Amino acid sequence: MGTEYYIKDKTKEMNQGIYIGKRSAAGKFCYKCRMTLHRGGPDMIHTVTGQWAAACMKCNSNDFVSPAMSFTFNINLPDLCNTLVESGYNLDNDLCIVGSNSEKAFSFDEFIEGLKECAITFNS
Ligand SMILES: [Zn+2]
Repeated sequence: MGTEYYIKDKTKEMNQGIYIGKRSAAGKFCYKCRMTLHRGGPDMIHTVTGQWAAACMKCNSNDFVSPAMSFTFNINLPDLCNTLVESGYNLDNDLCIVGSNSEKAFSFDEFIEGLKECAITFNS
């Protein structure tokens, strides 16, 4: 599950786009201590093995614990943006970002703002 995101050229109707990465549910996370409640650490949050702690393992409370989202990058986004700009694209005028679960297209700014909601990021 999760949502996969692609950069698309607005001028090309049917292009598949460049795969950026995937946003997924990441389980319980303590936003005060910035850590997952998975006992195996962040690398284990998308596996079926291991156990989740009942409360934050650092502050021992649930006061700042909420379900979190993660983002797994398939590409180095800043490098790709630089390449696109050098190729003559205007990121917000010529390109948009679409998710696999939605018809909505995002601007780069909207997408970057949305990434801030992802407590955990990975590079694939
Ligand atoms: Zn904590």
